[in-house]
Amino acid sequence: MGDIIKNFLFWLMALMLFICILCGINFIFKGDNNIDYTDFLSSVRKNEVEKVTIHGNNIILKKKDQTEYRTYLPIYDSKLLNLLLSHHIAINGIPIKKHNMYLSIFVSWFPTLLLVSVWMYFMKQFKNNVGKSNSFGKSKMHIVTDKNIKITFSDVAGCNEAKEEVSEIVEYLKEPKKFQKLGGKIPNGILMIGPPGTGKTLLAKAIAGEAQVSFLTLSGSDFVEMFVGVGASRVRDVFEHARNVSPCIIFIDEIDAVGRQRGGVSGGNDEREQTLNQMLVEMDGFKGNEGIILIAATNRPDVLDSALLRPGRFDRHVFVSLPDMIGRKEILQVHMKNIPLASDVDPLIIARGTPGFSGADLRNLVNESALFAAKENNQVVSMLDFEKAKDKIMIGAERRSMLMTEIQKECTAYHESGHVIIGRLVPEHDPAHKVTIVPRGRALGVTFFLPKVDSVSISKEKLESKISTLYGGRLAEEIIYGVQKVSTGAVNDIQIATDLARNMVTKWGFSDKLGPLLYKNNTRENVFYESVNSTSHITSTDTSSIIDQEIKLLIDRNYIRAKNLLYDHLDILHNMKDALMKYETLNSFQIDHLMNRKCEKFFVK
Ligand code: ADP
Ligand code: ZN
Repeated sequence: MGDIIKNFLFWLMALMLFICILCGINFIFKGDNNIDYTDFLSSVRKNEVEKVTIHGNNIILKKKDQTEYRTYLPIYDSKLLNLLLSHHIAINGIPIKKHNMYLSIFVSWFPTLLLVSVWMYFMKQFKNNVGKSNSFGKSKMHIVTDKNIKITFSDVAGCNEAKEEVSEIVEYLKEPKKFQKLGGKIPNGILMIGPPGTGKTLLAKAIAGEAQVSFLTLSGSDFVEMFVGVGASRVRDVFEHARNVSPCIIFIDEIDAVGRQRGGVSGGNDEREQTLNQMLVEMDGFKGNEGIILIAATNRPDVLDSALLRPGRFDRHVFVSLPDMIGRKEILQVHMKNIPLASDVDPLIIARGTPGFSGADLRNLVNESALFAAKENNQVVSMLDFEKAKDKIMIGAERRSMLMTEIQKECTAYHESGHVIIGRLVPEHDPAHKVTIVPRGRALGVTFFLPKVDSVSISKEKLESKISTLYGGRLAEEIIYGVQKVSTGAVNDIQIATDLARNMVTKWGFSDKLGPLLYKNNTRENVFYESVNSTSHITSTDTSSIIDQEIKLLIDRNYIRAKNLLYDHLDILHNMKDALMKYETLNSFQIDHLMNRKCEKFFVK
């Protein structure tokens, strides 16, 4: 129906445009300069006029200097003709065309006609909707059915547990009879849970591809409509359609759009409830032999209505989490298959530098790298292109055009060097693998740390090292320029360090004084999201002040450690600053050289 409305609007606009043009022709006529009738008469008397064109009451006069004016005859002037003739002015008349009258009638009636027809159109649609035929619900349904899906499990990388869990479904779809004979019960509904972009849709498609069955896809938000009853009728349509093409998979993306808990804080939403109820009814109607499997995806399982999760419905849950390092490497390899690679490309190194990337992010990374290579007219995509793409995605594009004074540049170079040096010297810290003073996104300079392994949990020692490293930047500025001249460039560092310290004290039990307890923040920021049965502790004022003291202690300790380390390595700080000023970006080898005081290797003074 969307298309119909679009078409309708398009023709409407076209018609209106046409009418405007028609009216315009009448108005444009020639000669835009309006003059008064009396002025016109005086021009005639002064013998300035050469020619007059009369069109009804409109008069266009052409003066002897070839300028044109237009005027209007206010009343019937019987002497006009004689006057013109006596001054030897050429007279030309244009007959008044009849159709102009029809046109003006049409123009004056047009808005009314338009209103009436739009109103009639919607009334008709509404009747259809209320009536039994339900064409409103049906015509707008975008069920995308795909019979020949080419995607297989080999296209899905890095989520082996999830793949294993769903491989049984493939067997079932291939040979439902075999399973039924043994009395096996196959779930009708599978709920895939995981952050966006982790490959839930891809996995569902791969199931269909492996089993060679049709794949029906639609999104939860397709069901949620303005008119009550439409969603429910759509659910009926989908299942009816599925029965016709079975065996098949129905994939519902964003199921949380329909399946939210009924009667929540937000008040009842009749339409959604009806839709959800209809879905439950349909699912209960499965006798397990239709060969239809419903797969739904969500990243918010906590908001789903518990009725959806009951046995016989979406009772099988498959978690698709963000890939770990090996997973990322495999996903990169899947997507790298399609592009020509330089020999220096190592997916493992890229995987190491992209913690937190989802499958979709990685695909995007490969794509961006290929674009970078194409921009440079390279035949193959090199590691440098991947580095560039990664930095662009993680921090934002380089802003080489941003003007920085030499002093700002130097300050940034000292700041970043401070991060690098402390990061290399404190125990357990991820080594800095790149540092740059080319502005990116909102940052003036960036230091990149590359973890050797994915860290699921982090030790206290490593966290403290992180805090020291975060202060390295500000401390370097302070040591070089003095406390009075420190810039505000460290806001971010300070915020991250403080958050870390707070979490260490209040959540992770790293404070001796407070012990391994959870101390909740007193702020009420999460009131809306917290579920009803979570008890909220309020920390007493006494405890709050101890928390603050402990955070301060933790930070002071690491701040002083970083300061001492920097004072001990001032020569490296200066050298690294010089190198950054000269090269703007240093890689891990160059950093190694500087840290080992072998700067002459690449940096001649
Ligand atoms: P979701 O449905 O979880 O939001 P998608 O399945 O739509 O994510 O993923 C988007 C794209 O990202 C996929 O089409 C695929 O190209 C890529 N992708 C995501 N996860 C993987 C993976 N595990 N292996 C390979 N490619 C992936
Ligand atoms: Zn910093």
